[in-house]
Amino acid sequence: MSDPTPEAPQPPAKRRLSTRGACAFCLRSFSKGAIVRHLETCPARQAAHLPGRKGSVHISVESRDDRRYWMHLEVANSAILADLDVFVRDTWLECCGHLSEFRAGRMSYASSPDPDWNDGSMDVPVGRVLQPGAALEYDYDFGSTTRLYIRVRENHPFRSGEAPVVLLARNEAPEWTCVACGAPATAVCTTCIWEGSGFLCEKCSGEHPCTEEMLLPVVNSPRMGVCGYVG
Ligand SMILES: [Zn+2]
Ligand SMILES: [Zn+2]
Ligand SMILES: [Zn+2]
Ligand SMILES: [Zn+2]
Repeated sequence: MSDPTPEAPQPPAKRRLSTRGACAFCLRSFSKGAIVRHLETCPARQAAHLPGRKGSVHISVESRDDRRYWMHLEVANSAILADLDVFVRDTWLECCGHLSEFRAGRMSYASSPDPDWNDGSMDVPVGRVLQPGAALEYDYDFGSTTRLYIRVRENHPFRSGEAPVVLLARNEAPEWTCVACGAPATAVCTTCIWEGSGFLCEKCSGEHPCTEEMLLPVVNSPRMGVCGYVG
């Protein structure tokens, strides 16, 4: 059934280059810049500190290609690099068990180290790699790569939880609108996304000419629309 006075198709929502994010402890929302200072003073985070433990290191992680996707993490000094790999896979990346790698300067730490390439293993204490001021790159999947940029901010004498990696804050989901009708998008067509027109609402997904296998859900992750990533 067609609407007698259809509205003109809306252009995609203006893509904001920055996203706000919520503190994982008090759930308040802050700009990407302001949250760093907040995390240092948040009373709810301080209440979560575990006394008498080895400390932690505060890092930020963001998508290399789309800086609207970002997280702040606290990595326990007792953790190994593989713990951080597991965390970013679980939160943002895992679709079908691809290989991954951290790179810091000329060193690399791979999920499946290749001796011919002089890879290090991820079974390495974080203190050896996550030094304040250091910057690392991380790749998930060497085919359809999702690349992350990691900045090491500072060491803390405390930990804010039992897990080897604790989420401090992450970006709120960017809003995407259906290219056909302007309603909030729920799916992305992995073919049409390359022409910048892949976002679809639930209703228009059913009428989209590409096959259903081409559609993936809209998710709050820099791997949205890539390989088989469903969140
Ligand atoms: Zn807070
Ligand atoms: Zn995959
Ligand atoms: Zn629509
Ligand atoms: Zn399509």
